[in-house]
Amino acid sequence: MFDERVIKKLGRIDTPFYYYDMDLLRSTLASVKEEADKYNYKVHYAFKANANGRILREIRDYGFGADCVSGYEVQRALETGYAPEQIVFAGVGKADWEINLGIDAGIESFNVESIPELLIIDELAGKKRKVANVALRLNPNVNANTHHYITTGLEENKFGINQWDLEKVVEVLKSLSNVRFIGIHFHIGSQITDLGSFRDLCLRVNDLQEYFVSNRLYPKVINLGGGLGIDYEKPDENPMPDFKEFFALFDEHLQLNADQEVHFELGRSMVAQCGNLISKVLYVKDGVNTRFAIIDAGMSDLIRPALYQAYHRIENLTSDAEKEKYDVVGPICESSDSFGKAVNLPKTERGDIIVIRSAGAYGEVMASQYNLRRLPLPYYSDEM
Ligand SMILES: *Cc1c(COP(=O)(O)O)cnc(C)c1O
Repeated sequence: MFDERVIKKLGRIDTPFYYYDMDLLRSTLASVKEEADKYNYKVHYAFKANANGRILREIRDYGFGADCVSGYEVQRALETGYAPEQIVFAGVGKADWEINLGIDAGIESFNVESIPELLIIDELAGKKRKVANVALRLNPNVNANTHHYITTGLEENKFGINQWDLEKVVEVLKSLSNVRFIGIHFHIGSQITDLGSFRDLCLRVNDLQEYFVSNRLYPKVINLGGGLGIDYEKPDENPMPDFKEFFALFDEHLQLNADQEVHFELGRSMVAQCGNLISKVLYVKDGVNTRFAIIDAGMSDLIRPALYQAYHRIENLTSDAEKEKYDVVGPICESSDSFGKAVNLPKTERGDIIVIRSAGAYGEVMASQYNLRRLPLPYYSDEM
């Protein structure tokens, strides 16, 4: 990804900034499409992973739908040219204006997370004399075996409708006339690398859909959410996840009824590896037992390490001297503003270019102006 020519170009741009490898993005999207098409699975891209305009357009051009978690994302999807009937809208706390926006646009479905929300969607749709499509987000109580901050499919999490509410929700659904039940939805967490969790999910989904069918509610759509993880340790060896194995697993374990559609909402796995945060070393400073490499990127540019103790591979693009250990930290006034402890880097000096790899998902989109910093700008391999 970083040959001499690229490094030279990167060196001329003001740091910090995001650098996207558009060839890798495209080959990743092509692989998702090829593998999903084998089973006629539909993929909605999870906007929250990266809502950069060029990336959204690129993804749209491959024919993927949009998975949104706010009215603003729904708006952006529509503006970017995603068809309303390819937009799904999840989230535990949809405000009235967001629901109205979705109803007016005629989106594919609301992924409903509670009974009170279902009642409000019915009421708002009724006022417009419309019928809104809804899928129920069910909490399958399946452990994703990932960081607890990004686990979403356990009973203790705030997401989805729990087992003990199923009877009630079926009763409520049958009593409402302004919502149309189209399916069931699941999303158990993020950065899932143990595919066994997805197999467990399939087995739960098979049981749960039987429950609906036996109650004469037919789920036309089975939406399995996202969560497929990527290799943060070895981005060069594994530049994209094994989508073939991923989709084949669902084909093997899901029991489908006639005419059912299977949907996915992939975010991270589609965009993480193509993005990099590029930074320069400001100072090298000796601490008590450590040596700090202080770089000009901070947690305001990429918050994942501070927020989730996430690991990102860090490389020095401009030195090939002997390796030493550095704590790589940013300039922001927080001790959590650190990208890695005891990182092995070639001897590092002021002005060296440091790249933080695999930063395409939950990177640029989570950047803030904390400390009144400017937002990091995006640059693209095919525009430089
Ligand atoms: C975040 C999210 C996704 C995407 O998750 P990834 O781990 O990025 O694939 C999909 N569906 C819903 C409902 C989400 O909240």
